[in-house]
Amino acid sequence: MDFGLTAEQSAFKKSVFDFAKKELVVGSSEPKTMRERDKASSFFREGFEKCAAFGILGLPVPERYGGLERDVVDCALAMQALGRGCPDSGLLFTICSHVLTCEIPILLFGSEAQKQRYLPRMVTGEIIGCHAMSEPEAGSDAFSLTATAERRGDHFVLNGQKTFISNAPVADVFLVFATTNRAKGWAGVTGFLVERGTKGLSVGKPLDKMGLKTSPTGEVTLEDVEVPVDAVLGKVGQGSAIFNAEMEWERSCLFAIHLGAMERQLDDTIRYAQDRKQFGQPIGGFQAVSHKIADMKVRIELAELVLLKVAWMKSRGVRAPLESAISKLFVSESFVQSSLDAIQIRGGYGFMSEYEVERDLRDAIGSRIYSGTNEIQKNIIASLLGL
Ligand SMILES: Cc1cc2nc3c(=O)[nH]c(=O)nc-3n(C[C@H](O)[C@H](O)[C@H](O)COP(=O)(O)OP(=O)(O)OC[C@H]3O[C@@H](n4cnc5c(N)ncnc54)[C@H](O)[C@@H]3O)c2cc1C
Repeated sequence: MDFGLTAEQSAFKKSVFDFAKKELVVGSSEPKTMRERDKASSFFREGFEKCAAFGILGLPVPERYGGLERDVVDCALAMQALGRGCPDSGLLFTICSHVLTCEIPILLFGSEAQKQRYLPRMVTGEIIGCHAMSEPEAGSDAFSLTATAERRGDHFVLNGQKTFISNAPVADVFLVFATTNRAKGWAGVTGFLVERGTKGLSVGKPLDKMGLKTSPTGEVTLEDVEVPVDAVLGKVGQGSAIFNAEMEWERSCLFAIHLGAMERQLDDTIRYAQDRKQFGQPIGGFQAVSHKIADMKVRIELAELVLLKVAWMKSRGVRAPLESAISKLFVSESFVQSSLDAIQIRGGYGFMSEYEVERDLRDAIGSRIYSGTNEIQKNIIASLLGL
């Protein structure tokens, strides 16, 4: 057993961290600062483009489509480094939605023509992807979706309503899930690649959220949207396989950005506890404070172990449904609790938006909900234990 990173992995992770610190904190055009972008719910497109130029958008994509062709462990390490170096969790969330929930399904299930058509432009950031599964009446019970896809000759006609779709307001390619046969339940769910501008596809105004405000989220309406038969991703009825495969990627790599954010919180909180004095001494000298910091460190250590275990298993071609559910659950709960601790240690300053500590808590709450709620993760764990 070897828990260490190779020299190459360490150097790669450090290069991503240095890039994030240098390029992804302050922009060159308004709104420039993270606080301003958060207040304005503004997508940091300049940061997105810089990530494309650095290679982040093509991390798992083979070189022949312009990507870096990195394995899952490297992808998770890169996301962790981004989370530590860049305070814009919304930007990183958008990147993960693009890479993990649109590129990865195309990579795993797409035809050669689909890969050629989309991947090179997704890697350069010329087009942005999103993933449209959730519906107003089908959230946790995702496969009960009611969007329909009816075959008519050499095309399908899609109808339905999608909600909470990350990137929808800025997306160019929509991975839309619809049922080709409702009687078949999950076995009738099929994925379609639909392009912006296709007649009948419309995107609502960006939804206002409590956190991840810089990641645009929207509703997608499909009204008699005609797509050719070759817009089907994989095979008809393969939607659930696509969804499950990408969820394992998402539950490791996406949550690595939160692991990185927890490391950033810890660095900042240690500094604060050393500098802030009350009763004539640094507050870090009070056990009530130092124990919270110790707990933050313990969470990071355990979150990193479980998350990298998932990435390691997947990089060896081993499926990890149990481990990825455990990882998603643990990392997100840890992120919420560490965000609360970081605020508490700063007292009133932690509660004031100006000090930019409370934003992590607002961002963290969402992590309990997306990629399957934490209650659903417990259901998955229990059912894989035979219950
Ligand atoms: C920031 C954000 C980004 C998102 N991005 C996307 C996206 O890009 N694409 C997309 O398709 N979706 C996206 N979603 C939607 C997300 O997948 C759903 O919100 C999630 O699956 C939960 O569905 P719901 O909101 O309808 O809640 P519900 O399913 O209605 O759940 C409500 C509550 O009931 C609980 N519950 C439901 N069923 C059970 C059960 N069987 N056992 C125990 N408890 C249960 C839930 O855990 C939850 O606490 C996003 C959501 C958020 C918050």
